[in-house]
Amino acid sequence: MSDTDMDLLSVRDLRTSYFTRRGELKAVDGASLRVGRGEIVGVVGESGCGKSALALSILRLVARPGRIVGGSVSLEGRELLSLPDREMREVRGGSIAMVFQEPMTSLNPVKTVGWQIAEAARAHEKGLGKRQALQRSAEMLKAAGVAEAERRLASYPHQLSGGLRQRAMIAMALIRRPRLLIADEPTTALDVTVEAQILGLMKDLRSEFGASIVLISHNLGVVAETCDRVYVMYAGEIVEESDVFSLFERPLHPYTAALLKSLPRPDDRSPPGTRLHTIEGSVPDLLARPAGCAFAPRCEKAVPECAVAAPGLAQAEEGRRVRCHLYAQGGSR
Ligand code: SF4
Repeated sequence: MSDTDMDLLSVRDLRTSYFTRRGELKAVDGASLRVGRGEIVGVVGESGCGKSALALSILRLVARPGRIVGGSVSLEGRELLSLPDREMREVRGGSIAMVFQEPMTSLNPVKTVGWQIAEAARAHEKGLGKRQALQRSAEMLKAAGVAEAERRLASYPHQLSGGLRQRAMIAMALIRRPRLLIADEPTTALDVTVEAQILGLMKDLRSEFGASIVLISHNLGVVAETCDRVYVMYAGEIVEESDVFSLFERPLHPYTAALLKSLPRPDDRSPPGTRLHTIEGSVPDLLARPAGCAFAPRCEKAVPECAVAAPGLAQAEEGRRVRCHLYAQGGSR
């Protein structure tokens, strides 16, 4: 990875483990990624591959028995892992905001949406009056695509649909004008129409507010729709890094290729009722990682070396890196 002056976020060799009675579970195992200014970067992989642990690690929100055990997270050149807790809280309330899959877990059920967004605004901007904060909340709800925003200010979270709650969460995150928004499966609980609207909103927010976005998803279709670049994670490791166009045109890592094959395609001519491709097996138990490549037990292209030696992340093409023995010398097969 070559960091540039343009990078907003630079994560290097980040390692986060959960220390359980059965042993050390390496949820994030040496992940490196970068996010440029105004860039939308996807992190994709199946459940349990370490995507959410990576997001929580960037924010230093890993709960016990988890712990960040090494690496670096730098935001605009400022190392976050060594910041005092108080300064880190300011970063979370200011420069970085997070949107989760289920807004009900983050919204307070006994406070109106308007009150919650206004409080976020006032926490960010000292001296902001209540009336002014409510007015800003309405503007931000409008920017997040909420119709009749003024009226919605008086709604409690349970009175809103899932899509509206997610928009309210996004408004609450953005009212602090963060430079980086981390969205963890923001559309998973929504139907496809609302999902498309929220993803469209993410792209608008980038152009309107200049925010960089890290979009975490298990859904490659969502990532294709929204992101500029993608990191594919498997068993706690980044296994492929690519611009989104090349990744979908020609996935390099066998895991990425298998994920893509399991996506429904609009140009698919298979007879009705044909089952989609599925990846046999499951993500390995991270407490008992196989020796060699973690994907080897499920990989259709495995060679004998894969079972004994773990591949490193190597540059395969300009702007593309892949963790696979098939590309170890920068070749492509
Ligand atoms: Fe498959 Fe081997 Fe590449 Fe792992 S290193 S993805 S097992 S070919």
